[in-house]
Amino acid sequence: MKRTFKIARPLGLALLMLVSACKNEPKNIFLQEWDTPYGTAPFSQITLDQYMPAFKAGIEEEKANIQAIIDCKEAPTFENTILAFEKASPILDKVQGVFFNLAESDSTPEMQAIEEEVTPLLTDASNEIMMNADLFARVKAVYDNQDGLTREQQMATKKLYQAFERNGVGLDEAGKKRFAEISNRLATLTQQFGQKLLAENNAFKEATGITVSAYYDFMASCDDRAKREEVFKAYSSRGNHGNENDTNDIVLEVLKLRAEMARLLGYPNFAAFQLSNKMAGDPATVDNFLQPIMDACMRSAKAQMKEMQKIAGHKIEAWDWMYYAEKLRAQKYALDENVTKPYFQADSVLKGVFTAAEKIYGICIEEAPEVEVYNPEVHAYKLTEPDGSLIGIFYRDYYVRPTKRGGAWMNNFREQSKGVRPIIVNVCNFPAPGADPTAAEPSLLTIDNVQTAFHEFGHALHGFLSQCNYSSVSGTNVARDFVEMFSQFNENFAFVPEILAGYANNCYTGEPIPAALVDKIQKALKFNQGFAAGETCAASILDMKWHELSVDQLAAFEGPEDIRRFEDKVCREMGLIDEIIPRYRTSYFNHIIASGYSAGYYSYLWSEVLAVDAWEKFKEDGIFNKETANAFRKTFLEKGGSEEPMVLYLQFRGSRPNPSALMRARGLQ
Ligand SMILES: [Zn+2]
Repeated sequence: MKRTFKIARPLGLALLMLVSACKNEPKNIFLQEWDTPYGTAPFSQITLDQYMPAFKAGIEEEKANIQAIIDCKEAPTFENTILAFEKASPILDKVQGVFFNLAESDSTPEMQAIEEEVTPLLTDASNEIMMNADLFARVKAVYDNQDGLTREQQMATKKLYQAFERNGVGLDEAGKKRFAEISNRLATLTQQFGQKLLAENNAFKEATGITVSAYYDFMASCDDRAKREEVFKAYSSRGNHGNENDTNDIVLEVLKLRAEMARLLGYPNFAAFQLSNKMAGDPATVDNFLQPIMDACMRSAKAQMKEMQKIAGHKIEAWDWMYYAEKLRAQKYALDENVTKPYFQADSVLKGVFTAAEKIYGICIEEAPEVEVYNPEVHAYKLTEPDGSLIGIFYRDYYVRPTKRGGAWMNNFREQSKGVRPIIVNVCNFPAPGADPTAAEPSLLTIDNVQTAFHEFGHALHGFLSQCNYSSVSGTNVARDFVEMFSQFNENFAFVPEILAGYANNCYTGEPIPAALVDKIQKALKFNQGFAAGETCAASILDMKWHELSVDQLAAFEGPEDIRRFEDKVCREMGLIDEIIPRYRTSYFNHIIASGYSAGYYSYLWSEVLAVDAWEKFKEDGIFNKETANAFRKTFLEKGGSEEPMVLYLQFRGSRPNPSALMRARGLQ
């Protein structure tokens, strides 16, 4: 999922009047109240030239409101400090909500130019606020004396306090100076890493003729063993060629600077710093969580390897795995996606997604033609409670188009808070209707696409069913290792027979999906999981081990050989077999070097355990048991980040999440 760029939020009425005072100019839509159904964005009235003035007005308004918090003569309270901060930027909330959504899903070169212009302005404004010692002093005063605060207020206060503290505002002058130096250097290094990796990916394509994103499909289907070996070696040595695009020096400098940053902030290593505000809490918890999964994966992988060797007639090497796994899958399950696709037409799948939510949570979802959309392919829906009260507005933006970035995500146009219902979008890149010339023009989805549709709506439900007072802790504003629980949980409903019966009819013949085909799909989903979970788990452990090194330990690392030696040692100690490598090796591990998942790659597996463990509770009680669904809704979905995740989890499940649920769900036991 994707978060928009934002910092804070309330009602700068004075400034709003000020910026719209010039009567002769056409009014900027972002500086006005929106007289639209449910306060949705009036897309047809938005023009490109309105964005920059609105951003600038928003930044000024936020500055004025922040100054008012600092200048407040009263002693700091939750209302006059934390809540006032949260409500400090109503104009920015509005313009960012629209702009950053459209910049991802319906962009143009003009939008990209605006994005380039506005990003440094927003970054500077945010940095200025987060390094403001006077503002921090007021936040700290509330944090230090939480008497009389509700639990939700405590959580909102803690979140804001930590955001300041983790930004180095509490350090002495020398510490602040060094912290800023490290931050700037890290920003440069991570950007360079991204550029070098991009160059390496392009070089890979030039050398092998395939793109990095096509690697897995290629390795599963290429009959030429020598070619597979060549491609595997090129893929797994990216960033490691000793040329101008070698990433090893950058990786080492990044790791060393992060360790130093963590030490400045009082942590033994960067992993301890990163984990301190996550559900897992500390590195040891993550390590103890990952190793048993690794062991189960390797047991399963070794058993599968024997079967693959029988087919191959020779020893399986790393470049053979995906190829013979595919052969074995075809032999065992004979699942052909050309047969399943007609049952999963995009509109029917959406119907299934809605039916599942209606059945589980008793809500009602209907099309809302009165709501404007930003592209003719987008549809708007209204979610209501049985008594007719509004839950929120949902946009569905499913089909691939040139103006959309790749992937799938949920995002908010407006977040939930007291008296405000959310506006949420699901964006996917499913084949557009008509894209398949051999078919009668429907958009037919793969099994993976179907899971994605349920996944993203799981995030949407987390946002929609939120009943919090404060947007900073509402909906999906939770720790990174908790947020994917709800999307992964919702995926479970995709292939439940009762739900399938309501949506998976063959789009050509109208016949319902045969039970035997459903059975095949379910079995095939559990195949090759020793490899799939194993390579993810190996990358997660590698990420943890790098970030658990202290400044002193990292001082001994000098060059590429040290990196490789360490990587080999970690892989050996975790028990990874030679035929499988981590999903990412260090020299091209973009998630942990340049994209915010440092000491965080485990989050995928962690959230999955929460999701499958919760799903087991549903299975124990009966999938459509009203009480269980109600408990899930009340305990998790309504609470967002207003309580610690583990407290909520224990309330719901009565025990800590059990990793063996993941092993069962993936067929590893
Ligand atoms: Zn997700």
